[in-house]
Amino acid sequence: MKAAIETIMPALLRTVGAAGVYARTPVFEEVNDRLSLLISRYREPATEVLHFPPVMSRQLLETSGYLDSFPHLLGCVSCLEGDEMKIRSAVESGGWLTTLKASELVLAPAACYPVYALQAEVGRLPDEGRLFDVSAFCFRHEATSEAGRLQSFRMREFVCVGTPTQALEFRSRWIPRARQLVERLELPYEVVAASDPFFGRGGQLAASRQIEQSLKFEMVIPIGSAPTACMSFNYHLDHFGSTWSLRTADGAIAHSSCVAFGMERLVLALFANHGLDPWQWPAAVREALHLA
Ligand code: AMP
Ligand code: ZN
Repeated sequence: MKAAIETIMPALLRTVGAAGVYARTPVFEEVNDRLSLLISRYREPATEVLHFPPVMSRQLLETSGYLDSFPHLLGCVSCLEGDEMKIRSAVESGGWLTTLKASELVLAPAACYPVYALQAEVGRLPDEGRLFDVSAFCFRHEATSEAGRLQSFRMREFVCVGTPTQALEFRSRWIPRARQLVERLELPYEVVAASDPFFGRGGQLAASRQIEQSLKFEMVIPIGSAPTACMSFNYHLDHFGSTWSLRTADGAIAHSSCVAFGMERLVLALFANHGLDPWQWPAAVREALHLA
């Protein structure tokens, strides 16, 4: 039984004083946890699993080139610094915001960035390349906060670093696998060519190049009446390989690809398409999610 987005958002999430920032109810989390476990069952063998915190090194993100492409989405952790007198006077003057200093941390805008830096520390890749399963609470300074567009959300990603063929084949394997996953969840979907929201005037060019070279696909699922990108399938060419000097076993610059799951959007899509009570969802969907 489909539910309108105006009904599901307030039933499942609680607003907590900032647009696009929500507290999750137990039933929302239950479905999120079971969906995470279902996704884990699709993980390929020999994949390294890492759970990242919601913050990451500012320098690492700068090196990754994030500020060239998406400076408008970034959030930086700023802190009050100095001795007690300095901090107290900044707070008491009411002007503490102007005294803030950027720390060495930013809020993670996606889960996969630290992976490439990690690989850079260990030398050449093995013959078969390297696979990762990573997750993080992510932040994006979104311009709008319509249903399903959060400022703070969880991203789960499978990542491949290897030869161009390994990276491309990884993405090619994942598209049908992701289709199968959402079909088991009985969600309507489409896989479409897509581009990232690159910054500024030059961004338009980067976006069209991305589409021309088929670098990004998205799985779009309706949440209420709005088709919403719930997963993305990304081929980065040698962007991270060149940035971090990642080398394949035969010494060539590595390529990479990643498959990203937007957890909140997928959970919202389940409720929007099957109704507010998970225990009343179609039997096959409950079985897939191990919802007894
Ligand atoms: P992207 O790196 O932009 O391809 O994002 C990967 C996935 O994260 C998307 O397919 C969405 O499901 C999810 N996502 C991205 N931005 C948001 C947002 N503002 N709110 C909720 N989910 C998001
Ligand atoms: Zn990624």
